[in-house]
Amino acid sequence: MTDSVRVRFAPSPTGALHIGGVRTALYNYLFARKMGGKFLLRIEDTDQARFVPGAEQYILDSLAWLGISPDEGVGVGGPHEPYRQSERKDLYKAYADQLLADGKAYYAFDTSEELDAMRASFESQGSAFQYNSLTRVKLKNSIALAPAEVEQLIASGTPYVIRLKVPAKGEVRFQDSIRDWVHVHTSSIDDKVLMKSDGMPTYHLANVVDDHIMEITHVIRGEEWLPSAPLHILLYQAFGWKAPQFAHLPLLLKPEGNGKLSKRDADLGGFPVFPMEWTDPATGAVSKGFKQEGYLKEATLNFLAFLGWNPGTEQEMFSLTELAEAFSLERINKAGAKFDVKKAQWFNEQYLKLQDPAALAKEYLPSLPADQGLSFVSLFLDRITFPQELADKVAEFKARPSVYEEAVLASKWNADAATGLQFIAQALPSVDSWEPEGIKHAIHEVLEANGIKMGKVMQILRVALSGNGAGPDLMISMQLWGKQEVIERLSAALAKFPTV
Ligand code: GLU
Repeated sequence: MTDSVRVRFAPSPTGALHIGGVRTALYNYLFARKMGGKFLLRIEDTDQARFVPGAEQYILDSLAWLGISPDEGVGVGGPHEPYRQSERKDLYKAYADQLLADGKAYYAFDTSEELDAMRASFESQGSAFQYNSLTRVKLKNSIALAPAEVEQLIASGTPYVIRLKVPAKGEVRFQDSIRDWVHVHTSSIDDKVLMKSDGMPTYHLANVVDDHIMEITHVIRGEEWLPSAPLHILLYQAFGWKAPQFAHLPLLLKPEGNGKLSKRDADLGGFPVFPMEWTDPATGAVSKGFKQEGYLKEATLNFLAFLGWNPGTEQEMFSLTELAEAFSLERINKAGAKFDVKKAQWFNEQYLKLQDPAALAKEYLPSLPADQGLSFVSLFLDRITFPQELADKVAEFKARPSVYEEAVLASKWNADAATGLQFIAQALPSVDSWEPEGIKHAIHEVLEANGIKMGKVMQILRVALSGNGAGPDLMISMQLWGKQEVIERLSAALAKFPTV
């Protein structure tokens, strides 16, 4: 079925997958779901020098965490196995040979020293060296050399690469789904290496060959690949294949919006730019991950979806399924997307409130009895950004106040408040039913009987018990502290508050 949509995420396992890569995977996934197509995961690991152990597993784990599940590819299999390019390396040679036979590619024997010397000599004359239609005729390759000499060099085992013979004159043009028409003159494109001297294909050859074989209809990838796209179009033309539709996604920008988001920004800003925690196998350096920082997968997905795309409506909260329904390439922005960490936190707060409180209690307050854990979760859920803050909140809650909020005392601590607290202190010991309604009733009763308004006393009572002028529901808090503790905290405060 060549007509149906087939897209792929094709990362190279050269380190931790950047969060921008996760966004690319997500957009591919959403597009496939929306169009009723297939989403493939291909691992592009032909560059042995840049291979990092653990990086492929990290990609798989990150996608699995977020539920961005491939329909075909590494880890799931499919009709075009293998999906790891290092396991397909024998295949690419035949395609390079086809281009050689058709005169669309050529052998080049220049050593790296010779090319370095060439670069230096161009630079000394103030220009940049390009291996192209102008220079190739003077270099050591099968275009400039006599056929017999070429044969002899190959027969004697001289190392060579295979280069694409980029047409001298012409224009490459294609219509990108996001950037619209892109025009490039072929004179600005190098005769790129397709096969390296170690017999491995370069990214360009392997990428184009695999996209063709795997019947990819749309290439949705980061903007950093836009400069390679004209070369890829030339390769499709050289093979006589139909090129896929390209869509180059906008860059992720620093939170302030000036320049590309980097790992350094993340380190300085204390926020993650990786989906999961990553330990660099070479240096042992650990980088923060969204998952370990306490971002929920729903929040992470929603945040990533909005980095460069919007539904065109006011709705902000979208499940993965809803995203797939609403998604379209047309609504992706051309301009870079600011990596607004505050927005990620906002999403997390929203999704946290939708979590099952019992499950949160079990996971994040495991040492508390279930009912207590649940009460604490309800008390703090709308006051935290990350679930692991629950334990801190509980510890803070359980610690007796050592200081009392000055500003509140200055404005609210007066004769009425003082009398009110005294009455409450006297009434509390005889409260039989120590639960929110019972406590509230007792406080209300004693204040009313003595003609003091609740409003004059309640914030001072909160300061007396917790130290702070604001906080979670006071009656539930009192229940959780327990009767004896509340009585003791209140008398300690009364002893410490200034006389009025
Ligand atoms: N292997 C490339 C990468 O690491 C793939 C680029 C593409 O999608 O064509 O991003």
